[in-house]
Amino acid sequence: MITNIGELAGADEDRWLIENAALVIEGDRIAWAGPSADAPAADERYDAGGRAVLPGFVDSHAHLVFAGERAEEFAARMSGRPYAAGGIRTTVERTRAASDDDLRANVRRLVAEMARQGTTTVECKSGYGLSVEQEERAVRIAAELVDEVTFLGAHVVPAGADPADYVRLVSGPMLEACAPYARWIDVFCERGAFDADQTRQILDAGRAAGLHPRLHANQLGYGPGVRIAVEYDAASADHCTFLSSEDVAALAGSRTVATLLPGVEFSTRQPYPDARALIDAGAHVALATDCNPGSCYSSSMAFCVALAVREMRMTPEEAVRAATEGGARALRRTDVGHLRPGARADVLLLDAPSHIHLAYRPGVPLVAQVWHRGKAI
Ligand SMILES: [Zn+2]
Repeated sequence: MITNIGELAGADEDRWLIENAALVIEGDRIAWAGPSADAPAADERYDAGGRAVLPGFVDSHAHLVFAGERAEEFAARMSGRPYAAGGIRTTVERTRAASDDDLRANVRRLVAEMARQGTTTVECKSGYGLSVEQEERAVRIAAELVDEVTFLGAHVVPAGADPADYVRLVSGPMLEACAPYARWIDVFCERGAFDADQTRQILDAGRAAGLHPRLHANQLGYGPGVRIAVEYDAASADHCTFLSSEDVAALAGSRTVATLLPGVEFSTRQPYPDARALIDAGAHVALATDCNPGSCYSSSMAFCVALAVREMRMTPEEAVRAATEGGARALRRTDVGHLRPGARADVLLLDAPSHIHLAYRPGVPLVAQVWHRGKAI
């Protein structure tokens, strides 16, 4: 039992915050949550010292299977060069040349880095292999180390390949090799990557192979991505940086989550997505890092929360909920992102009295303790 919790978030269906609370973990599950005064007896106690307890963050969008890094490209971009989808190819070369063990070690390092910052559920995409063998290797390694695996062979057309041939490869032999390791299929639907027809062709093949869609949509400009995501009942449309009013209305009328990745706008110096328009229209919103070596090399959900509050006018409560229950919804998971009885015991104790401090004290390490599946890490 975690006692003396000043502020407990996400543990009650009706009110998101409970003050002066306690939380009981049994095995890897939450057994009880509520006001301290009503707490049952427990054999082991941990005193939270009046600090805040939240569900572990759910990072529903990351690209962790890669080798090398692109600090020089970041520095060049900060001195004026724009971000283009082609930068992915640099990482593809490095990734293809790396050993299985090197790739595995890199994913493990980043998942540990995320856990230290309070992230207890991680989604990870392939997409830096771009051949049947290399993509199969990426989803296989991801499946060893994270909860949620996405096949993203359609990240970019590899250098020298014919786009139509490549779409056939992704929808055929590559999909067949990757499907056993993945739950999701994703396409980078964007000018310079894959157009509407190619996106539909790949999503159709993915669905036929038993994978469920999620989409990289409307990151670099206006386009059809968000509406295709809604049309396919995708779990999530990710980025949503350039949205028309029709896109916002389509998301609001669907169960497709708009996953906002403000670390990308920070790192590419693009305008931030209009979170207020989405929330005010009634769309479901999630926050995620998009951790990858090109457009955002941050694994910090707390940083995303701070950006969402400062730059996208989300309230601290909206931002923290988007980083927990929003991420769970974007992965169609009901066992994470909250702390109600029955949830997986993924618990974050802040070194602060309130969740507001995540945005109020940006850049400060505020994680006092993390429990993952009921075990302190
Ligand atoms: Zn991404």
